[in-house]
Amino acid sequence: MTTTATPIQNDISNPGILLRPKWAEVTEITPEADGIATYWLRFINSSDQQEFHFNPGQFNMLYLPGFGEAAISISSDPQDHEKLGHTIRFVGNVTRAVSRLKVGDVVGLRGPFGSCWPMSELEGKDVFIACGGIGLPPLRPAIYKIMRNREKYGKVTLLYGARTSSDLMFPREYEVWRKAQIDVEVTVDRGDANWSGRVGVVPMWFYHFRIDPRKTAVLTCGPEIMIRFVIFEAMARRVPVESIYVSLERNMKCGQGSCGHCQMGPYFICREGPVFRFDELQSFFNVEEF
Ligand SMILES: Cc1cc2nc3c(=O)[nH]c(=O)nc-3n(C[C@H](O)[C@H](O)[C@H](O)COP(=O)(O)OP(=O)(O)OC[C@H]3O[C@@H](n4cnc5c(N)ncnc54)[C@H](O)[C@@H]3O)c2cc1C
Repeated sequence: MTTTATPIQNDISNPGILLRPKWAEVTEITPEADGIATYWLRFINSSDQQEFHFNPGQFNMLYLPGFGEAAISISSDPQDHEKLGHTIRFVGNVTRAVSRLKVGDVVGLRGPFGSCWPMSELEGKDVFIACGGIGLPPLRPAIYKIMRNREKYGKVTLLYGARTSSDLMFPREYEVWRKAQIDVEVTVDRGDANWSGRVGVVPMWFYHFRIDPRKTAVLTCGPEIMIRFVIFEAMARRVPVESIYVSLERNMKCGQGSCGHCQMGPYFICREGPVFRFDELQSFFNVEEF
């Protein structure tokens, strides 16, 4: 097994602590797209709020009594210690129950769990972020981190795709990111009368961007088919596998490497992932078959 590039952030020596949720209040709900909203949470206990720190790419287990738990990435600014954002698509048991929450309701949180985007290792490099759909929320904390330390990174490009223009996440922020010298490029699978921008899938547009493979790191998250083609394209452009990072989603239960629900090869995605350096995954991730 190769060295993990993205270290585990949690002390799992006391699993009881990690299994106990802390309670947080919904302070604001921002609708993002059809069936997707960001829930802004603040811990009820102020010391829980002060003690909570996370790194870009990590997730929480969000708990609704009577419904269960779901793994949800933290989508807010890691430097903002006042509130935590979770951008949620309403797909199943827990998340549909979340869609009925109102400001003032209370949820349980366990976390933060998992590995993170390697922000220090990216310093001095060009960063190419290729993501699709609900793959942008787990990358937004990395974008904030880059913005706050812009001089430490080279050329930064965000190539983001969604099915239609109304499915785009966080459109109000693109101009802010552009002002921070992040090249924000957006594409949709299907254009319409409201859209005059790019049309086509993310890997197809990735092909059109000039990158220097010797100094570019690629970060990718989104639908698995998109991830596969992004990696395929990055490798075709001679980006070393050690410079490609991917965040994977698998059905998970405990969030701390105990239950095995999210196992992939030798890894538990909740513990060694969700962010992997691609050389760690390559033998389980059959890029060549596409
Ligand atoms: C590390 C990580 C980070 C994540 N981050 C986010 C995030 O930021 N935002 C987000 O929205 N999601 C995120 N997810 C995905 C989220 O955890 C899952 O979608 C989760 O299953 C939702 O829980 P649920 O109870 O609402 O859905 P579930 O009830 O578990 O259903 C999930 C999916 O399975 C389908 N399904 C349910 N029951 C059945 C059945 N009996 N047969 C077949 N299919 C079925 C549903 O239609 C749905 O598509 C993340 C997952 C991981 C692992």
